[in-house]
Order: sequence, then structure tokens, then C-alpha cells
Amino acid sequence: MPDTSGKGCLFLLSGPSGSGKDTILKQVLARLPDLHFSISATTRPRRDPSDDEKYHFMTREEFEQGIAAGTFLEHARYVDHYYGTPAGPIEAWRAKGEDVLVECEVQGALQIMQRVPDLTSIFIMPPSLAVLRRRLQNRQTETAEQTEKRIQTALTEMRAAPHYQYLVINDALEDAVSQVCGIITAGRAAMARHIDFINEVLQSC
Ligand code: 5GP
Repeated sequence: MPDTSGKGCLFLLSGPSGSGKDTILKQVLARLPDLHFSISATTRPRRDPSDDEKYHFMTREEFEQGIAAGTFLEHARYVDHYYGTPAGPIEAWRAKGEDVLVECEVQGALQIMQRVPDLTSIFIMPPSLAVLRRRLQNRQTETAEQTEKRIQTALTEMRAAPHYQYLVINDALEDAVSQVCGIITAGRAAMARHIDFINEVLQSC
């Protein structure tokens, strides 16, 4: 068993558009205030002032310099824009024994899975395709064509779900939030993280 004593956990949350992932994320962070949220970098334009809680906005040039400098734990192009997870803050928190939650799409998630062996990965799914379709159609800001494109992207993303360790079906929001919190609690209790503690107790006998 790898000994990860003293090191903070890394949790990864992904899920297609329409899975309710953003709402779940907010509620999980509210329930677990000692969990750090990893702020991503993106080249997409700001849609809402609250976006600043989730993203550092960059120009394409700045982002590409960041890629060249090895700034990102992962990065991907998604709907014509770059998105990436800055590695520095995550390493610093984990080195202090503090836990971090990353939210990203599937291409980036697969990169993190390869680079971080002690990762805990969670995929959020809608309960059915019919529910996903209904949720996306209810967003009245989009045309039928845009909605259809999102559904196709969601299907592609859901095909990657078996690569994740945990699946949470977002049928009832409260239950889904509790399940994600439960997985995080279990990850924190993983034996590999507590070998030092066990040795200390045994040595004090
Ligand atoms: P949005 O533009 O709607 O905020 O996000 C679009 C997609 O980018 C979502 O699926 C979201 O999970 C994903 N995303 C957010 N941050 C990151 C990141 O740091 N890296 C990657 N690869 N995807 C991200």
C-alpha cells in the first residue's frame, strides 16, 4: 500500500452539461468548508461576474505560455477555448496536508488520472437521457441546434464515465450532494493516508 501520510487528498469532479455538476459542487463546498477549490484558468470570455470565483481569465497567448512553462496539471480545448488546472496551488495545499477539489471536463480528467495515482475521481450523471434532454431544453438561452450539440457532447462525455472511480446519479439534488460528500469523507479516511498516525500510536505504547 503506498504511504501517502501527511499529504492532502485530491478529488476530481466531472460530468456533462445538464448533470447538475455546478450546483452539486457549490453545495459540497458549502458543506465542507475545509476543502480547497482549485480555480481553473480559461480563455473563454467571462459570462457572469460570479465566474471570477471559478476562473482566472487569460488571453490565448498567456495560456499558451503557461502550457509551455508546464504551469498546468492538465489542460484541454473545450468548445473553442482553453481550460486548465494550475498545478502550483494544488501541490502547495497537498504538501501541507490540505485537501483539494478540482472540477474539469473529461479530457482534462483523463490527464489527471494518469498523473495523480492517489486521485479520487467522481463522475456525475443525470438519471436518464430523457431527463438530461429536458434539463438542457429548459435552458431557454439556447437554440434547438445548440441544445442538440450539447446533448451530443454530453453523450461523448458519458462514454468516459467508466474511467472514473465513483458514479453519482443526480436524480434528487440533496442525495447527490450527500453522496459526493460521503465519497470525500471516505477518501479522507483511506488507510494509506494514516500510516504515520498508526505508527505514532503504536510507538507510544
Ligand atoms: P464553462 O465554460 O461552462 O464554465 O465550462 C465548460 C467546461 O469546462 C465544463 O465541463 C467544466 O467542467 C470544464 N472545466 C472547468 N474548468 C476546467 C479545467 O480547469 N480544465 C478542464 N479541462 N476543464 C475545465
